Amino acid sequence: MKTLQLDGSEGGGQMLRSALTLALVTSKPFRMTHIRGQRRKPGLMRQHLTCVHAAREISGGSADGAEIGSNELVFHAGTIKPGDYRFAIGTAGSTGLLLQTLLPALAMADKPSTLHLSGGTHNPLAPPFDFLERIHQTALQRMGFHAAPQLRQHGFAPAGGGEITCAITPSGRLAPLDLTDRGNHESTRIRIPFRNLSADIAKRMLQAALKILPCEDARIDQLPDGPGQGVACLIECGFTNTRAMSCAFGEMGVSAEKVGHRAARMMDGFLTSNAAVDLHLADQLLLPMALAGGGRFTTVNPDDHVTTNIRVIETFLPVKFEVKTSGNGVHEISCDPV
Ligand code: ATP
Repeated sequence: MKTLQLDGSEGGGQMLRSALTLALVTSKPFRMTHIRGQRRKPGLMRQHLTCVHAAREISGGSADGAEIGSNELVFHAGTIKPGDYRFAIGTAGSTGLLLQTLLPALAMADKPSTLHLSGGTHNPLAPPFDFLERIHQTALQRMGFHAAPQLRQHGFAPAGGGEITCAITPSGRLAPLDLTDRGNHESTRIRIPFRNLSADIAKRMLQAALKILPCEDARIDQLPDGPGQGVACLIECGFTNTRAMSCAFGEMGVSAEKVGHRAARMMDGFLTSNAAVDLHLADQLLLPMALAGGGRFTTVNPDDHVTTNIRVIETFLPVKFEVKTSGNGVHEISCDPV
Protein backbone atom coordinates (compact mmCIF):
# COMPACT_ATOMS: atom_id res chain seq x y z
CA MET A 1 0.00 0.00 0.00
CA LYS A 2 1.20 3.53 -0.81
CA THR A 3 2.90 5.30 2.12
CA LEU A 4 1.11 8.58 2.94
CA GLN A 5 3.43 11.59 3.31
CA LEU A 6 2.79 14.07 6.10
CA ASP A 7 4.68 17.21 7.03
CA GLY A 8 4.47 17.68 10.80
CA SER A 9 6.11 21.09 10.84
CA GLU A 10 2.95 23.15 11.21
CA GLY A 11 1.59 21.40 14.25
CA GLY A 12 2.45 19.61 17.44
CA GLY A 13 2.18 16.15 18.92
CA GLN A 14 -1.46 15.95 17.94
CA MET A 15 -0.60 15.61 14.23
CA LEU A 16 1.47 12.54 15.07
CA ARG A 17 -1.10 11.04 17.44
CA SER A 18 -3.89 11.47 14.90
CA ALA A 19 -1.74 9.89 12.19
CA LEU A 20 -1.06 6.90 14.47
CA THR A 21 -4.75 6.41 15.22
CA LEU A 22 -5.69 6.70 11.57
CA ALA A 23 -2.93 4.32 10.50
CA LEU A 24 -4.28 1.79 13.00
CA VAL A 25 -7.85 2.17 11.78
CA THR A 26 -7.18 2.29 8.02
CA SER A 27 -4.00 0.12 7.85
CA LYS A 28 -2.45 2.87 5.68
CA PRO A 29 1.28 3.38 6.35
CA PHE A 30 2.63 6.92 6.74
CA ARG A 31 5.87 8.85 6.81
CA MET A 32 5.86 12.02 8.91
CA THR A 33 8.72 14.47 8.47
CA HIS A 34 9.58 17.57 10.55
CA ILE A 35 7.71 16.17 13.55
CA ARG A 36 6.74 19.04 15.88
CA GLY A 37 9.00 21.12 13.66
CA GLN A 38 8.29 24.52 15.17
CA ARG A 39 8.14 23.52 18.81
CA ARG A 40 10.87 24.72 21.18
CA LYS A 41 12.25 21.17 21.38
CA PRO A 42 11.24 19.62 18.05
CA GLY A 43 10.96 15.89 17.37
CA LEU A 44 9.61 13.03 19.42
CA MET A 45 9.49 13.53 23.16
CA ARG A 46 8.87 10.79 25.70
CA GLN A 47 5.07 11.13 25.59
CA HIS A 48 4.94 11.02 21.79
CA LEU A 49 7.31 8.07 21.67
CA THR A 50 5.10 6.15 24.10
CA CYS A 51 2.18 6.72 21.72
CA VAL A 52 4.27 5.29 18.85
CA HIS A 53 5.32 2.24 20.91
CA ALA A 54 1.77 1.66 22.09
CA ALA A 55 0.33 1.92 18.55
CA ARG A 56 2.96 -0.52 17.35
CA GLU A 57 2.26 -2.96 20.19
CA ILE A 58 -1.52 -3.04 19.89
CA SER A 59 -1.26 -3.79 16.18
CA GLY A 60 1.98 -5.75 15.84
CA GLY A 61 3.13 -3.00 13.46
CA SER A 62 6.52 -1.44 12.78
CA ALA A 63 8.03 2.00 13.35
CA ASP A 64 11.26 3.37 11.88
CA GLY A 65 12.66 6.46 13.58
CA ALA A 66 11.03 5.73 16.95
CA GLU A 67 13.64 7.47 19.10
CA ILE A 68 13.72 10.47 21.39
CA GLY A 69 14.40 13.62 19.34
CA SER A 70 13.62 11.91 16.03
CA ASN A 71 12.16 14.29 13.42
CA GLU A 72 10.93 11.61 11.08
CA LEU A 73 8.86 8.48 11.55
CA VAL A 74 7.68 5.77 9.17
CA PHE A 75 4.84 3.78 10.68
CA HIS A 76 3.14 0.62 9.38
CA ALA A 77 0.25 -0.64 11.48
CA GLY A 78 -0.51 -4.34 11.67
CA THR A 79 -3.91 -5.69 12.67
CA ILE A 80 -5.41 -4.27 15.85
CA LYS A 81 -5.27 -6.83 18.65
CA PRO A 82 -7.74 -6.14 21.43
CA GLY A 83 -6.38 -7.08 24.87
CA ASP A 84 -5.13 -5.98 28.24
CA TYR A 85 -2.28 -3.47 27.85
CA ARG A 86 -0.02 -1.49 30.18
CA PHE A 87 1.93 1.55 28.99
CA ALA A 88 4.11 3.76 31.16
CA ILE A 89 5.10 7.17 29.81
CA GLY A 90 7.90 7.47 32.36
CA THR A 91 7.47 11.27 32.73
CA ALA A 92 4.50 13.51 33.50
CA GLY A 93 3.52 13.23 29.80
CA SER A 94 -0.25 13.05 29.40
CA THR A 95 -1.99 9.70 29.90
CA GLY A 96 -5.10 11.36 28.47
CA LEU A 97 -3.47 12.07 25.11
CA LEU A 98 -2.14 8.50 25.01
CA LEU A 99 -5.63 7.20 25.71
CA GLN A 100 -7.07 9.38 22.95
CA THR A 101 -4.58 7.87 20.49
CA LEU A 102 -5.54 4.28 21.26
CA LEU A 103 -9.23 4.52 22.11
CA PRO A 104 -10.78 4.98 18.63
CA ALA A 105 -8.65 2.15 17.23
CA LEU A 106 -9.43 -0.32 20.03
CA ALA A 107 -13.10 0.66 19.85
CA MET A 108 -13.10 -0.55 16.22
CA ALA A 109 -11.89 -4.03 17.26
CA ASP A 110 -14.27 -6.95 17.69
CA LYS A 111 -13.42 -7.66 21.36
CA PRO A 112 -13.04 -5.49 24.46
CA SER A 113 -9.72 -4.11 25.69
CA THR A 114 -8.39 -2.64 28.90
CA LEU A 115 -5.66 -0.01 29.11
CA HIS A 116 -3.56 0.74 32.21
CA LEU A 117 -1.64 3.95 31.62
CA SER A 118 0.81 5.75 33.88
CA GLY A 119 2.25 9.26 33.60
CA GLY A 120 0.60 12.65 34.06
CA THR A 121 -3.14 12.97 34.63
CA HIS A 122 -3.28 16.70 35.43
CA ASN A 123 -0.76 18.66 33.40
CA PRO A 124 -0.95 21.98 31.58
CA LEU A 125 -1.51 21.91 27.80
CA ALA A 126 -3.29 18.56 27.86
CA PRO A 127 -6.79 17.41 28.84
CA PRO A 128 -6.96 16.75 32.59
CA PHE A 129 -8.47 13.37 33.50
CA ASP A 130 -11.74 15.03 34.55
CA PHE A 131 -12.08 16.53 31.06
CA LEU A 132 -11.51 13.11 29.51
CA GLU A 133 -14.05 11.41 31.69
CA ARG A 134 -16.78 14.01 31.85
CA ILE A 135 -16.49 16.00 28.61
CA HIS A 136 -14.60 14.05 25.96
CA GLN A 137 -16.11 10.68 26.81
CA THR A 138 -19.65 12.09 27.02
CA ALA A 139 -19.29 13.56 23.53
CA LEU A 140 -17.83 10.33 22.14
CA GLN A 141 -20.66 8.33 23.63
CA ARG A 142 -23.12 10.30 21.51
CA MET A 143 -21.45 8.79 18.45
CA GLY A 144 -21.43 5.25 19.90
CA PHE A 145 -17.90 4.91 21.32
CA HIS A 146 -18.02 3.03 24.63
CA ALA A 147 -15.21 3.50 27.11
CA ALA A 148 -15.01 3.79 30.88
CA PRO A 149 -11.93 5.77 31.98
CA GLN A 150 -11.08 5.59 35.69
CA LEU A 151 -8.61 7.63 37.67
CA ARG A 152 -6.50 5.47 40.02
CA GLN A 153 -3.99 8.07 41.11
CA HIS A 154 -3.60 11.78 40.30
CA GLY A 155 -0.30 12.65 38.63
CA PHE A 156 0.48 16.38 38.55
CA ALA A 157 3.28 17.81 36.42
CA PRO A 158 6.21 17.78 36.79
CA ALA A 159 6.29 14.69 39.05
CA GLY A 160 3.80 12.54 37.10
CA GLY A 161 3.24 9.16 38.76
CA GLY A 162 -0.48 9.19 37.92
CA GLU A 163 -2.44 6.14 36.81
CA ILE A 164 -5.58 5.66 34.82
CA THR A 165 -7.36 2.62 33.45
CA CYS A 166 -9.90 2.43 30.68
CA ALA A 167 -12.16 -0.40 29.61
CA ILE A 168 -13.05 -0.09 25.91
CA THR A 169 -15.92 -2.05 24.38
CA PRO A 170 -16.37 -2.56 20.65
CA SER A 171 -18.41 0.35 19.35
CA GLY A 172 -20.48 -1.51 16.77
CA ARG A 173 -22.41 0.95 14.65
CA LEU A 174 -21.30 4.57 15.03
CA ALA A 175 -23.62 7.52 14.45
CA PRO A 176 -22.73 10.94 12.98
CA LEU A 177 -22.40 13.78 15.47
CA ASP A 178 -24.85 16.66 15.70
CA LEU A 179 -23.77 19.08 18.39
CA THR A 180 -24.76 22.48 17.08
CA ASP A 181 -27.17 23.51 19.84
CA ARG A 182 -25.96 23.28 23.44
CA GLY A 183 -29.39 24.03 24.94
CA ASN A 184 -29.75 25.91 28.23
CA HIS A 185 -27.03 26.38 30.81
CA GLU A 186 -28.24 24.13 33.64
CA SER A 187 -25.41 23.66 36.12
CA THR A 188 -21.97 24.87 37.24
CA ARG A 189 -19.55 22.75 39.27
CA ILE A 190 -16.11 23.65 40.61
CA ARG A 191 -13.54 21.17 41.93
CA ILE A 192 -10.10 21.99 43.29
CA PRO A 193 -8.09 18.78 43.79
CA PHE A 194 -4.75 19.36 45.54
CA ARG A 195 -1.92 17.34 46.99
CA ASN A 196 0.95 18.15 49.32
CA LEU A 197 0.09 21.86 49.43
CA SER A 198 -1.58 24.01 52.05
CA ALA A 199 -5.39 23.79 51.95
CA ASP A 200 -5.35 27.60 52.10
CA ILE A 201 -4.07 27.71 48.50
CA ALA A 202 -6.99 25.59 47.31
CA LYS A 203 -9.49 27.66 49.32
CA ARG A 204 -8.22 30.95 47.90
CA MET A 205 -8.35 29.51 44.38
CA LEU A 206 -11.94 28.44 44.92
CA GLN A 207 -12.98 31.83 46.34
CA ALA A 208 -11.43 33.60 43.35
CA ALA A 209 -13.27 31.35 40.87
CA LEU A 210 -16.55 31.78 42.77
CA LYS A 211 -16.32 35.56 42.53
CA ILE A 212 -16.61 35.25 38.76
CA LEU A 213 -18.85 32.17 38.59
CA PRO A 214 -20.91 31.86 41.76
CA CYS A 215 -22.31 28.33 42.27
CA GLU A 216 -23.25 25.96 45.07
CA ASP A 217 -21.63 22.78 43.80
CA ALA A 218 -18.08 23.84 44.63
CA ARG A 219 -15.46 22.23 46.84
CA ILE A 220 -11.78 21.60 47.45
CA ASP A 221 -10.59 17.96 47.49
CA GLN A 222 -7.49 17.12 49.50
CA LEU A 223 -5.92 14.08 47.82
CA PRO A 224 -4.24 11.26 49.76
CA ASP A 225 -0.47 11.32 49.92
CA GLY A 226 1.13 10.46 46.58
CA PRO A 227 3.79 11.57 44.12
CA GLY A 228 4.69 15.26 43.82
CA GLN A 229 2.45 18.19 44.58
CA GLY A 230 -0.10 20.13 42.63
CA VAL A 231 -3.44 21.88 42.49
CA ALA A 232 -5.96 22.38 39.68
CA CYS A 233 -9.05 24.52 39.29
CA LEU A 234 -11.61 22.58 37.24
CA ILE A 235 -14.84 24.29 36.23
CA GLU A 236 -17.61 22.40 34.50
CA CYS A 237 -20.82 23.74 33.04
CA GLY A 238 -23.69 21.46 32.11
CA PHE A 239 -26.07 22.37 29.30
CA THR A 240 -29.21 20.60 28.13
CA ASN A 241 -27.31 18.83 25.34
CA THR A 242 -23.65 18.85 26.38
CA ARG A 243 -20.98 19.85 28.92
CA ALA A 244 -17.86 22.01 28.85
CA MET A 245 -14.87 22.34 31.18
CA SER A 246 -12.16 24.92 31.73
CA CYS A 247 -9.13 24.35 33.89
CA ALA A 248 -6.03 26.07 35.20
CA PHE A 249 -3.14 24.65 37.22
CA GLY A 250 -1.24 25.98 40.20
CA GLU A 251 2.16 27.35 39.21
CA MET A 252 5.15 28.49 41.22
CA GLY A 253 5.13 32.30 41.29
CA VAL A 254 1.45 32.61 40.25
CA SER A 255 -1.03 33.43 42.99
CA ALA A 256 -3.85 31.02 43.81
CA GLU A 257 -6.30 33.83 43.02
CA LYS A 258 -4.87 34.29 39.56
CA VAL A 259 -5.25 30.57 38.77
CA GLY A 260 -8.87 30.57 39.99
CA HIS A 261 -9.62 33.70 37.94
CA ARG A 262 -8.00 32.22 34.86
CA ALA A 263 -10.18 29.09 34.87
CA ALA A 264 -13.33 31.09 35.67
CA ARG A 265 -12.70 33.71 32.99
CA MET A 266 -12.20 31.01 30.36
CA MET A 267 -15.54 29.46 31.26
CA ASP A 268 -17.20 32.85 31.47
CA GLY A 269 -16.01 33.58 27.92
CA PHE A 270 -17.47 30.30 26.71
CA LEU A 271 -20.79 31.02 28.45
CA THR A 272 -21.14 34.35 26.68
CA SER A 273 -20.77 32.65 23.29
CA ASN A 274 -23.51 30.23 22.37
CA ALA A 275 -21.20 27.56 20.99
CA ALA A 276 -21.83 23.93 21.95
CA VAL A 277 -18.20 22.75 21.99
CA ASP A 278 -15.27 24.45 23.71
CA LEU A 279 -11.96 25.20 22.02
CA HIS A 280 -10.17 22.07 23.28
CA LEU A 281 -12.95 19.59 22.73
CA ALA A 282 -13.29 20.95 19.17
CA ASP A 283 -9.91 19.65 17.98
CA GLN A 284 -10.40 16.39 19.89
CA LEU A 285 -13.78 15.63 18.28
CA LEU A 286 -12.62 15.89 14.66
CA LEU A 287 -11.12 12.43 14.35
CA PRO A 288 -13.86 10.46 16.16
CA MET A 289 -16.46 12.43 14.16
CA ALA A 290 -14.78 11.54 10.86
CA LEU A 291 -14.70 7.84 11.89
CA ALA A 292 -18.36 8.01 12.88
CA GLY A 293 -19.36 9.05 9.35
CA GLY A 294 -19.21 12.83 9.83
CA GLY A 295 -21.46 15.39 11.46
CA ARG A 296 -21.28 18.96 12.67
CA PHE A 297 -20.78 21.05 15.78
CA THR A 298 -20.49 24.69 16.76
CA THR A 299 -17.44 26.02 18.57
CA VAL A 300 -15.57 29.18 19.51
CA ASN A 301 -12.65 30.52 17.38
CA PRO A 302 -10.89 27.33 16.22
CA ASP A 303 -7.08 27.36 16.66
CA ASP A 304 -4.20 25.73 14.73
CA HIS A 305 -4.93 22.35 16.27
CA VAL A 306 -8.16 22.29 14.29
CA THR A 307 -6.53 23.21 10.98
CA THR A 308 -3.61 20.80 11.26
CA ASN A 309 -5.73 17.95 12.57
CA ILE A 310 -8.18 18.37 9.67
CA ARG A 311 -5.26 18.13 7.25
CA VAL A 312 -4.09 14.83 8.75
CA ILE A 313 -7.59 13.33 8.83
CA GLU A 314 -8.33 14.30 5.21
CA THR A 315 -5.07 12.63 4.17
CA PHE A 316 -6.25 9.26 5.52
CA LEU A 317 -10.02 9.27 5.15
CA PRO A 318 -12.40 10.11 2.29
CA VAL A 319 -13.98 13.02 4.16
CA LYS A 320 -14.14 16.79 3.71
CA PHE A 321 -14.31 19.28 6.57
CA GLU A 322 -15.71 22.77 6.33
CA VAL A 323 -15.26 25.54 8.91
CA LYS A 324 -17.86 28.31 8.59
CA THR A 325 -18.23 31.48 10.65
CA SER A 326 -21.72 31.86 11.95
CA GLY A 327 -21.27 35.24 13.69
CA ASN A 328 -20.37 36.38 17.24
CA GLY A 329 -17.15 34.37 17.18
CA VAL A 330 -19.08 31.12 16.75
CA HIS A 331 -17.99 28.71 14.02
CA GLU A 332 -19.65 25.63 12.64
CA ILE A 333 -17.38 22.74 11.74
CA SER A 334 -18.85 20.05 9.54
CA CYS A 335 -17.46 16.80 8.19
CA ASP A 336 -19.00 14.92 5.28
CA PRO A 337 -17.99 11.81 3.33
CA VAL A 338 -16.70 12.47 -0.20
P1 ATP B 1 3.39 19.83 21.50
O1 ATP B 1 4.36 19.88 22.64
O2 ATP B 1 3.96 19.54 20.25
O3 ATP B 1 2.41 20.97 21.52
P2 ATP B 1 1.56 17.92 22.55
O4 ATP B 1 1.58 16.52 22.17
O5 ATP B 1 1.79 18.23 24.00
O6 ATP B 1 2.58 18.56 21.62
P3 ATP B 1 -0.59 19.34 21.16
O7 ATP B 1 -0.33 18.88 19.80
O8 ATP B 1 -0.49 20.81 21.44
O9 ATP B 1 0.25 18.66 22.24
O10 ATP B 1 -2.03 18.79 21.63
C1 ATP B 1 -2.52 19.04 22.92
C2 ATP B 1 -3.95 18.54 23.06
O11 ATP B 1 -4.37 18.80 24.40
C3 ATP B 1 -4.97 19.23 22.16
O12 ATP B 1 -5.93 18.29 21.75
C4 ATP B 1 -5.62 20.26 23.09
O13 ATP B 1 -6.94 20.60 22.74
C5 ATP B 1 -5.60 19.49 24.40
N1 ATP B 1 -5.67 20.40 25.57
C6 ATP B 1 -4.76 21.34 25.93
N2 ATP B 1 -5.18 22.00 27.03
C7 ATP B 1 -6.38 21.46 27.37
C8 ATP B 1 -7.33 21.72 28.41
N3 ATP B 1 -7.13 22.65 29.31
N4 ATP B 1 -8.46 20.98 28.45
C9 ATP B 1 -8.67 20.03 27.51
N5 ATP B 1 -7.82 19.72 26.52
C10 ATP B 1 -6.69 20.43 26.44
